[in-house]
Amino acid sequence: GSRFEGVEQGPPIEVFQLNKLFIDDTFKNKVNLTIGAYRDENGKPWVLPVVRRTEKQMAEDESLLHEYLPVLGLEQFTSASVSMLLGEDNPVIAEGRAFGVQTLSGTGGLRVGAEFLNKHLKYTTFYYSNPTWENHHLVFMNSGFTQPRSYRYWNAETRAIDFDGLIADLKGAPENSVIILHACAHNPTGIDPTHEQWEKIADVMEERKLFPFFDSAYQGFASGDLDRDAWAVRYFVKRGFELVCAQSYAKNFGLYNERVGNLAIVMSDAKYVAPSKSQLTWIVRGMYSNPPAHGARVVATALTNKHLFDQWQVRDHIKQMSSRVFEMREALRSELVKLGTPGNWDHIVNQIGLFSYTGLTQRQSEYLMEEYHIYLLRTGRINVCGLNPGNVQYVARAINDAVTK
Ligand code: PLP
Repeated sequence: GSRFEGVEQGPPIEVFQLNKLFIDDTFKNKVNLTIGAYRDENGKPWVLPVVRRTEKQMAEDESLLHEYLPVLGLEQFTSASVSMLLGEDNPVIAEGRAFGVQTLSGTGGLRVGAEFLNKHLKYTTFYYSNPTWENHHLVFMNSGFTQPRSYRYWNAETRAIDFDGLIADLKGAPENSVIILHACAHNPTGIDPTHEQWEKIADVMEERKLFPFFDSAYQGFASGDLDRDAWAVRYFVKRGFELVCAQSYAKNFGLYNERVGNLAIVMSDAKYVAPSKSQLTWIVRGMYSNPPAHGARVVATALTNKHLFDQWQVRDHIKQMSSRVFEMREALRSELVKLGTPGNWDHIVNQIGLFSYTGLTQRQSEYLMEEYHIYLLRTGRINVCGLNPGNVQYVARAINDAVTK
């Protein structure tokens, strides 16, 4: 016997399970559209040149030690992150009522932020979009929230946002509900509210006294423009909302495994900052004590060095990644149109970010995996940059077959 014999096998995490099936598949033309990571035009992962360069310099820099970081992280990194999110001229920064906590990527930001809201603001109800990134539910439940609810978001028929449903659900939410909002490039649908729709959402949230928790996993990666991708968060701040936002550098810096993130917090008055920081310190202390340094140093260096920042932002990296995604959206749609595949495929180019919610059914998605070795989530979500000029025709023909058979 063993003390562990009562431990039951848990369910697999779909996206990692499918990724593994892809890796083990020996078929020559297999295609991986599962996991949310950037791939270049040859289907290879891409370490951003800015990152490589900074890491090489860091390797030679004898002043860099492996001492513990402060519990709330590297100050240079958290302040650069808050500036990137809110815009460096944002008055809330000058007024000292915005600050950051370094976290274990975006997920860690959600986790620390949710525990803080639950423990110290006593919030218990959270709303996530239906559908959403599948981890929101678990992270919030593990943080102490007890009332999970969803708001309508996707209209499968129109393949667009169900805005009336969304507003109706927010109107029905109890006061102090925490509303998880995707800052840009909604995962998995790729559909964001328009500016006018964000204004309506803010109206209802203000009226119903709901609390915005932004999840910003794709700033810059979505449109190639940091300011455009931060529009919604900045708009809420301008409207006077207090809010929190989990920022991830996994996608926009390609630092998936370094777990570089920031929890940005905006308050109505600077006098609430010190007590909140002290409580956040205890939350982190009891969870992982202090954050890792490597990725935060890389990002802080790139964000604060003008030359590196320009290379990353203005001229090169994030534009290159987002443009490639746009090109592949165009390519997939045009192949499907050429093949005369039944249905309207405009949504593929209207959606933004890494993912397309194709509208393929579970059966069609499974058919693509079984017959064509094309791996995608069973909801029909594809990672668009798993496509490249070498496989997009193959994928389009397979989709055509799945839809028409
Ligand atoms: N939130 C959303 C909407 C995401 O899509 C992701 C990653 O796919 C994350 C959060 C968290 O990512 P990470 O913890 O790797 O930064």
